[in-house]
Amino acid sequence: MREFLIAGNWKMNMLPTQAKMFVQELSGTIDETLHQNPTIRTVVCPPFTHLAGVISELTSSEIAVGAQNCYFKETGAFTGEVAPSMLKAIGCSYCILGHSERRSIFGETDEMISQKVKALLAVSVTPIFCIGETLDERESGQTNVVLEKQIRAVFEGLTLEEVESIVIAYEPVWAIGTGKSATPEMAEETHSFIRELLHSVANQFGHKLTTKILYGGSMNAANAYDLLSKPNIDGGLIGGASLKVQDFTSIITSAISLQ
Ligand code: PEP
Repeated sequence: MREFLIAGNWKMNMLPTQAKMFVQELSGTIDETLHQNPTIRTVVCPPFTHLAGVISELTSSEIAVGAQNCYFKETGAFTGEVAPSMLKAIGCSYCILGHSERRSIFGETDEMISQKVKALLAVSVTPIFCIGETLDERESGQTNVVLEKQIRAVFEGLTLEEVESIVIAYEPVWAIGTGKSATPEMAEETHSFIRELLHSVANQFGHKLTTKILYGGSMNAANAYDLLSKPNIDGGLIGGASLKVQDFTSIITSAISLQ
């Protein structure tokens, strides 16, 4: 049976009360179905200020909760930052890292993201590590070079267990929030490249790595089935469509029909 992870990146949207109402409706709509389909995992990633409220709404739900960022130090004089152990302590099981908006707007480097991934692994919070090329990079034939640099920066030197504990989200930057998704064929070709590269970086040729590779970039209710039907696409990181209960549950339902 195929396993899928469907993750919602809420970005900087909703107020705390709206977030609570949203997850009440979401869990009311999909929880029973998720309970019957344990190979389909779902996670929502609200802003920091909404995490505790959303977690308390979802205590008896199948829906997990993740953050959208963290710092790599555990404690100290780092005004405005949040430590991995703090996320763990309130019940976050995932954390998005290296999203293209963090890289381009907030100047996050491969080196910082690598430190953050390690810090999350140390407290057993699953990193959803984002990679992706810009339109210029794709058009100049640099996609694989860019992805290889982003992947090597994080994965080199990790143990097999660590490699398999990270979720990768391949998000072509030109497809994020634009309504222009990669075609299923284009995404599959890149996912397959990423999987092969992981085997080589982790020096694992006899063992099929179970590392999940999600696709992100304008995934929605209409294109999710075709994207998820590709063998190397293990789920989705969804922005805009994760803010509508009906669209998000429809993506989850597509995954269920393909498991
Ligand atoms: C994202 O921000 O991770 C994302 C994929 O956004 P969207 O689905 O809106 O393109």
